[in-house]
Amino acid sequence: MEKFNVVMLGAPGSGKGTQAKILAQEFRLAHVSTGDLFRKQIASGNALGQEAKSYIDRGALCPDSLTINMLHDFLSHISDVEGFILDGVPRTTQQAEMLEGFGTTPKLPVHLVLNLNVDQEEIARRMIKRAELEHRSDDTPEIIQKRIENYFAQTKPLEEYYAAQGVLRQINGMGSVEEISAVLCETVRREMRRR
Ligand code: ADP
Repeated sequence: MEKFNVVMLGAPGSGKGTQAKILAQEFRLAHVSTGDLFRKQIASGNALGQEAKSYIDRGALCPDSLTINMLHDFLSHISDVEGFILDGVPRTTQQAEMLEGFGTTPKLPVHLVLNLNVDQEEIARRMIKRAELEHRSDDTPEIIQKRIENYFAQTKPLEEYYAAQGVLRQINGMGSVEEISAVLCETVRREMRRR
């Protein structure tokens, strides 16, 4: 059977990563976070990591081709899964088109897009809490602000892009981790059954 690929959309701090990990376990999907992949490249000190760091540390998105090439390289080493859950990618319409094979890369069809809606105040609260726990270099107040602005300018348009394909589902991201994951699991189950 063809793989079932899910995209998590949502602002920084919307809980995408937390929920993507839960869904991955529940449905035997491989969780792929481009933010985590970039942080691994940076930690290993290689050229890709150095280039990525120059963007990440000022709250900018990394270039589309750099991101998609890294993603495809990572995906090519994964087998024996029911599909992928993409967390943090695509983040631009251009990246979405690249996944569909408009560029030179192989296709990665997207079957379901889950958009986590969280209000701005809650996002700010969650980001401050995470900064205290994780000490990420891009979690300072100015950089957080920049990332949220970039999300609205560059990533939010993806909602319309996927709505036009009929694969977008809006999810209320306010509530406890368990409440939200219950709704997400139910949505994934329903969409998998419809195939
Ligand atoms: P966030 O909590 O902001 O969603 P991530 O861990 O997903 O954080 O990403 C951290 C940073 O990594 C982003 O601000 C961006 O610079 C870079 N990044 C991650 N995914 C992508 C992507 N798909 N395209 C471009 N840059 C990306």
